[in-house]
Formats: sequence, C-alpha cells, structure tokens
Amino acid sequence: MPELPEIEVSRLVLAPGLEGDTLLSCRVLPPGFYRNPSARELKRRAGRAIRRLSRRGKYLVIEMEGSPPLILHLGMSGRILLDGHGSHERFEIRTARHRVSICDPRRFGRVLSRLPKLGIEPIDPGFSARTLGNILRGRKAPVKALLMDQRLVAGLGNIYATEALFEAGIRPGRAGGRLSSKEIARLALSCARVLRRAIRLGGSTLVDEAFLDPLGRPGRAGGAVAVYGRAIGRCGHPLRLTRRLIAGRRATYCPACQR
Ligand SMILES: [Zn+2]
Repeated sequence: MPELPEIEVSRLVLAPGLEGDTLLSCRVLPPGFYRNPSARELKRRAGRAIRRLSRRGKYLVIEMEGSPPLILHLGMSGRILLDGHGSHERFEIRTARHRVSICDPRRFGRVLSRLPKLGIEPIDPGFSARTLGNILRGRKAPVKALLMDQRLVAGLGNIYATEALFEAGIRPGRAGGRLSSKEIARLALSCARVLRRAIRLGGSTLVDEAFLDPLGRPGRAGGAVAVYGRAIGRCGHPLRLTRRLIAGRRATYCPACQR
C-alpha cells in the first residue's frame, strides 16, 4: 500500500509539470465505479489553474485557483501515471499539457474534495518524543495500531510502522501507553528516519505491492527494508509474526532485537 513516502515521491515527480497548468477535465473512467465527488462537483475545477501540489499524510492534494482542491488517495493498490496509459485506470485528469490517471486494480482508492481529520506527521518539524508521548499516553491498544491510526499519526502504514518499531527495538503488540520515555524517544526518531530515508530512495517497491512513480520507475527503499515481509531480519535473526492481528494483520518482529 502506498504510504507517505510513495505519495511524496509521486508529488515530487508531478509538481513541476502540473503547477501552473490549467485543468481541463477530470472524470471517472468506465466501468465507472470509483469513490469520488459527483460529476457536477468535479466540473467545478474545469478551466481553473492548478496552484500547487501538496501532500498531507497519504493524500495528494491538487490545490486549485478558485475552486476546492482535488484530493487523491491511492488506497491499497493505486498508483498515479503521468502521460501514459496503464491497466485498471479508474480516474483521469486532463490538463492543457498533460494527462494524469489513477491505476487502481483493487479500487480502494478515492477522490475527495476535502481532507479528513489527520494527526501530525512524523516528518513534521513539530513532531518530537513529547508529541508522541502525548499521543500514546494511557492507551491500551498495540503501539503498531496506534502508529497506523491516521487520526493520531499521519503517513505510516504497515511497511513503515513495522520498520520504525524494529529500529526502535519495540515489539508491535506492546500497549502504547506502557512504553518507557526512552522507548518513546527512540520511536519518535525512528518513525521520522524510516520515512525520510524512503523518500530519499524513491519509495518502496515490493514484490506484492508494486509501487511505481508517475513515470513508471520503481523505488529503491524496498531493498532497504529490515524486517517487513522478510523471514530473516537484516539483523540476521529469524523473524516472528504476532499471534494476534494488529490493524487487521499479523505483525512481523524480531524476538531478539525487539522488546
Ligand atoms: Zn534481530
């Protein structure tokens, strides 16, 4: 699933071409099932200039001159394509100079006019051990589920939450409110570090969740993954899965490196 780094990488590729361009049309492509604003609502952007591309959490925000923004969420399997044609295209944006489409085989993505309420991002300059401590305080839920709750912390999904917990040496099933202040400090740093590193490496392209940037290029962060989706960790130890489901899946961890 595309997480904060993959959206940021997509934004960086799209911004130079789209900023200042004029949006001509946007529409849901046949067979037509995609969660989106109504056709009438989408028409409000036609003929307007694209002011800026920004990002919040896992959402790409196309800011418009004189109309509400066009906000894209790629769901489980979506990717954005610039000036190309792909399979499973669900949504199309035409501008004066470009064509942008969303390819989304599993159709969990959506197009919005307004952002939902989102928590702070780990790469926000205001995110610190203290911020994270306030978020986790008193909570009994597994720390991994809390990190992936977009209303609390925005941008981390399964891959980067798994990696950040490994780097901080914390097991994913621990109750969020039971972490020591030292552990919280390590976790705040590792959350920011894994996201920044992945942006720098162009996002994660893993076998089962094949992210490609809008020009069709794979990212290199998948090769830097230490535990996610692996049987043996980068640390050299055999990895384990939690018995219980955390955010719908069993979580990978290293029993030797994580406490
Ligand atoms: Zn280990």
